[in-house]
Amino acid sequence: MPVFVTLISFALKDSQRLFILVFSGTKVSGKVVESAGDEVKEVKEGDIVIPTYIGECKECENCTSEMTNLCLKYPIALNGLMLDSTSRMSVRGQKLYHIFSCSTWSEYMVIDANYVVKVDPSIDPSDASFLSCGFTTGYGAAWKEAKVEKGSSVAVLGLGTVGLGAVDGARMHGAAKIIGIDKNPWKKEKGKAFGMTDFINPDDEPNKSISELVKGITHGMGVDYCFECTGVPSLLSEALETTKVGKGKVIVIGVGVDAMVPLNVIALACGGRTLKGTTFGGIKTKSDLPTLLDKCKNKEFKLHQLLTHHVKLEEIDKAIQLLKQPDCVKVLITI
Ligand SMILES: [Zn+2]
Repeated sequence: MPVFVTLISFALKDSQRLFILVFSGTKVSGKVVESAGDEVKEVKEGDIVIPTYIGECKECENCTSEMTNLCLKYPIALNGLMLDSTSRMSVRGQKLYHIFSCSTWSEYMVIDANYVVKVDPSIDPSDASFLSCGFTTGYGAAWKEAKVEKGSSVAVLGLGTVGLGAVDGARMHGAAKIIGIDKNPWKKEKGKAFGMTDFINPDDEPNKSISELVKGITHGMGVDYCFECTGVPSLLSEALETTKVGKGKVIVIGVGVDAMVPLNVIALACGGRTLKGTTFGGIKTKSDLPTLLDKCKNKEFKLHQLLTHHVKLEEIDKAIQLLKQPDCVKVLITI
């Protein structure tokens, strides 16, 4: 199994403004809105916002459904372009792409207003930066996708920021047993900080599979919910096997480099289990993300536990290396 990796988030100083040009001709900033177009109603110049990679129109078939957060009008821009198929950024005459709708690793950004969420200025910007993906994705997966209920049992594969968010989401929704699984022994303390009740390091018992280890501490039954946060292909079938026959549910969050992965169909079909994928943990960016920002403001999240390293933008190569260190969860890039 490869080393578990985590994602990078970023925060900006108030004095350093991003420039976001909205689809209709609006300008906003990734941290502070520099300017907004005439048709933009929700944010104005001077507002503090965080960018998101999916929007919410509140009108399409998916936005009016409680089953998904994947807005059909404002989807993830995987082609690196704005919704009108243009780029609004260039350097020395060369087109730059808006990766994931956000293009965040830059001093100025141009973004559709439907892809930003206003942030209370009293919230620490580094905490806010962790709520645009990462922690939110895991937390939302427990809250919105699995709908973890009181007294249930949960397993989380991979204790990076997403996995730790899933642990916290399960705890806040009353899970009685929350099993964290990671090959990095240092993650045991991190998992506990967010409410993990049991820790499994597969390297400690190499002769047993992860599902055997999980069943070993759940009276042979397995768990109600498993969150696969690693993207390691072989773990998808293991995740299925960790859950209860007949009613186990696996939420797939991790995506690795392999788009096609092997799957134990017998464990799925004959085991009567449910396999569900999620993007951004099922969180609707306009309707649900403010709830998480409120929790952040009320200090209900221990987001400081995620912040392990700081670098400047010029040191971004160092940030990538830091992600491979065992004591790294999140690297904050200050622009
Ligand atoms: Zn929509």
